[in-house]
Amino acid sequence: MTHAVAIDRVLTAVEAGRDELLAFTASLIRIPTVNPPGQYYRECAELIGERLSAWGMDVEFVEAQNRPEHTPEHPRVNVVGRIEGMALRPCIHLNGHFDVVPPGEGWRVDPFGGEVRDGRIYGRGASDMKSGLAAAAFAIEAIRRSGFSPSGSVEVSGTVDEESGGYAGVAHLCKAGYLTAQRTDYVIIPEPFGPERICIGHRGVYWFDVIAEGRVAHGSMPHLGRSAISDIGVLLYAIRSRLEPELASRVSVMPVVPEEARRPSINVNAVWGGQVSENQQSPCVADRCVVTFDRRFIPEESLDEVRREVAEVVAAVEQEEEGSSFRIEDRMSVLPTRAPEGSPLTSALSTAIRRVRGCEAELVASPGTYDQKHVSRIAGVDHCVAYGPGPLKEAHQPDESCAVDDLVTSAQVMALALLELVG
Ligand SMILES: [Zn+2]
Repeated sequence: MTHAVAIDRVLTAVEAGRDELLAFTASLIRIPTVNPPGQYYRECAELIGERLSAWGMDVEFVEAQNRPEHTPEHPRVNVVGRIEGMALRPCIHLNGHFDVVPPGEGWRVDPFGGEVRDGRIYGRGASDMKSGLAAAAFAIEAIRRSGFSPSGSVEVSGTVDEESGGYAGVAHLCKAGYLTAQRTDYVIIPEPFGPERICIGHRGVYWFDVIAEGRVAHGSMPHLGRSAISDIGVLLYAIRSRLEPELASRVSVMPVVPEEARRPSINVNAVWGGQVSENQQSPCVADRCVVTFDRRFIPEESLDEVRREVAEVVAAVEQEEEGSSFRIEDRMSVLPTRAPEGSPLTSALSTAIRRVRGCEAELVASPGTYDQKHVSRIAGVDHCVAYGPGPLKEAHQPDESCAVDDLVTSAQVMALALLELVG
């Protein structure tokens, strides 16, 4: 069979399964796998597992036994399906998270209805990312239906907790040896970047707290104490007036979208201080105030520099404001990551996008992190990209939806990439 005939068969197999793919996506949306707290994970993993076995895969359920968030009420259950070809390598792994953020307000459709209207499927997870997960699984099935068995192996996993860091999900699969550089060559994560975009990586994160220590006193005699809140006020102003302009002057070469995010940023995620609630009076000078910062950095910056820069601003304020006292506590950091230049994975997807969508793929990078961080950091698999139907702008929004055509064509793109990489 010629290459062109093979391609044609695979594309036709996906198109012929359009209704089935749509129904599978809807059935996933109808399970409200809301995180937090992580509801119905077992039910959703089982539904996916059933479908993967019906599609000829060996299925395994992987519970995050050692994680504190894996509880009897909210078990963290992941599912992995696998098809082995003539050899174990190359091995391509498609991973999608099936947890979704809470629906929130403002919906005009049932967020867990999986309703299809005017060529779009609606519901929480329609974009981020149950459609992507369904498309990835169906891409593998389309290869089988076309009569091909892979030369290497193909895997698909449905995982939990991406929205809360992915520690019981992809990170667990990596630590448990399901995803490792020793067995896995390529990873595609169908996050919702849209059917014509390939996301090659993401910026880094440095999350930290600054804690101001003051001195308590009666609120009617503030001169006897020292307000930690006022000190934090000075610090916040220093961050805005000194650090922010500096950050705005730096631009990454990484194609981060939206374009504004090509520059590093710092956000104040939270401020905690003073009396505990508006209902409980406590006429005291606040002796403690904590600010949580979220600093996103570009590959051109190193984590050491990023941390030093913050420490310098804090130290300068401490010196200028006599009697003030600050402490920095790190919460979490993730280094920027990107797939290697010229990765066969990127080129297989680009070729497939050209064929299916008739346009050049746009290579982008993400302003925030997602499970790619675990794949590159824990598993050590560099050839990892995100490619999924999207659209990104509808993720976490009311009336989240995905165009049915994008669902189908992204499955076609993934199927052709599979054909090229392990066909
Ligand atoms: Zn997502």
